[in-house]
Amino acid sequence: METQSLTIHVKKIEKSKIEQVDFNNLAFGKNYSDHMMYCDYIDGKWQTPQIVPYGPMEFSPSTKVFHYGQAVFEGMKAFKDDAGRVHLFRPEENFKRINKSSERLAIPEFPKDYFFESLETLLKLDHEWVKPGQGNSLYIRPFVIATEEGVAAAPSDAYRFMIITCPSQAYYNKPVKVLFAEKYSRSADGGVGYAKAAGNYGAQFYPTNIAKSKGYDQVIWTDAKTHQYLEEAGTMNIFFRIGDKLLTAPTSDRILDGVTRKSVIQLAKDNGIEVEVAPVEVERIKNAAKAGELKEIFGTGTAATIAKVTGFEHAGDEFTLPKMEVEYSELMKKYLQDIQYNRVEDKNNWLHPIEK
Ligand SMILES: *Cc1c(COP(=O)(O)O)cnc(C)c1O
Repeated sequence: METQSLTIHVKKIEKSKIEQVDFNNLAFGKNYSDHMMYCDYIDGKWQTPQIVPYGPMEFSPSTKVFHYGQAVFEGMKAFKDDAGRVHLFRPEENFKRINKSSERLAIPEFPKDYFFESLETLLKLDHEWVKPGQGNSLYIRPFVIATEEGVAAAPSDAYRFMIITCPSQAYYNKPVKVLFAEKYSRSADGGVGYAKAAGNYGAQFYPTNIAKSKGYDQVIWTDAKTHQYLEEAGTMNIFFRIGDKLLTAPTSDRILDGVTRKSVIQLAKDNGIEVEVAPVEVERIKNAAKAGELKEIFGTGTAATIAKVTGFEHAGDEFTLPKMEVEYSELMKKYLQDIQYNRVEDKNNWLHPIEK
C-alpha cells in the first residue's frame, strides 16, 4: 500500500516480521523493526523522505562514504509507558547534535520538520516494536552517509539520511574493569571528538582490543596532549563519585556532549547531589582511591543508560571500587528511568509523546 502525506512517502511492509523476534532474548542491534526511513540530498536539496520496509540497499563500490568515512550518526530511544503511550526522550538534543556533527564533516544540515515528521511516522507505524516494561525500549539510529560516486577526496555532493530502529532490553551489567589510556587517544584539540563521526569509533577498536587482551572491558580516554586528564569512554561520558560529590569532565571539542550526561547532572542537582564539572586529573582519582574516598565510577550513554565500573588500572596500579550501600549510579538510573517511562512528573519537559 502506498500513501502520500504532506512531506513523507510511506510504503508499508506487507507482513510484519514482529512474530519472528524473541523479545525475551534480544541481542542488541541484531533485530530491526519493520520500517526504516531514508531521504536523499541531491542537487543541493533534501528530497521527500521515504519510509519503506527495512532491508538492504545497493551502493556503487566507489561511493564516497566507503573511502573517506564522511558519515555521522545519532543514538536515541523511545519508551512505552504503562498506559501504552510512546515517548521519545529529549529528541531535540539529538536533532541539534546530528547537525552539529554534520557541520564538522561538511555534510549539509537536515531540516527539523523532516526529522520529527519522519520519526513520528516511523514510530506510529512500528509502535508494537516498543515494548512496555522496565528496561525495554526502541533504540533509534539516525545516520547520514556520503553517497556520491567517485573516489576523489572531496566532499560528496550527494548524501543519504536514514533512520533505522531496533528493540532493546536492559542488558545485565556484569562487573566492568577499565583501563585509563596512557598511549592512544580518541580525539585531539581541533579534531572531531565532539561529533558522532563514524571514524571516531572505528579508530578506537584497535586500542580497545589491546585493553581487552589484558582483561579490561573498556578504555577510559585521557587528553591527547598529556594523558593526565580523564575524558570519557568509547560511547559513554564518565562520572566519578568522591565522597558524596559527583565529578565529571567539562565538554570540549574532544568530548561528546552526551544527553545522558547532561540529564544526570540536572537530576543530581534536582535531588540535592553536588556535581563538580571540572577537568578530572588521573592523579586526583588515584589519590582518592588510595584514601578510600573514591566511591564509584560510572558511564552514561543512551544505549547502556548507566554502566557501573567496578575497577580500573593505570600505569600498572590496580584499584577495585568498594561496594556501596547506596549507589549513586543506581539512584541516577532510577531518576532517569522514572522520567523515561513516564512514572513521575516530567518537570524538565524531556518527554516528547508520539500521538497514536
Ligand atoms: C554517544 C556518545 C556518548 C553518550 O551520549 P548520549 O547522548 O548520552 O547517548 C558519549 N560519548 C561518546 C563518545 C559518544 O559517542
